[in-house]
Amino acid sequence: MIKKVGVEAKGKCIVCTKDKHGIEVVDDAVIQFIRRFKQKFRVATGNRLVVCGECVPEQEKRRKRFEQSLITNGGLGAVIAIVLGFLGGLNGIVLGVAFLLFLLCFSLLVYWPAIVKKK
Ligand SMILES: [Zn+2]
Repeated sequence: MIKKVGVEAKGKCIVCTKDKHGIEVVDDAVIQFIRRFKQKFRVATGNRLVVCGECVPEQEKRRKRFEQSLITNGGLGAVIAIVLGFLGGLNGIVLGVAFLLFLLCFSLLVYWPAIVKKK
């Protein structure tokens, strides 16, 4: 069951790491950061990142795990930030925001990019 859900291109599949025809990966802030980092150390491969047809279910699963983590950590962090702000005023807000960013960093550990959806 291969769904045609996005913009197709030839490149390297980020799930099975094979050179395949697949759906393009969204060039988001994290991907751009990694690319810039690689260029700096001259290890950029210049590959277009895609997800091949067989790997779409796995892609969706990993992306969902990341989004779920963002919602959980973001929500938890926001609640703590509000409580700290309520209890501690300006200092509490600063501490709360720092804590929120700290929690969001944990979400980056399970970061997974999205794929380009057809418009
Ligand atoms: Zn694949």
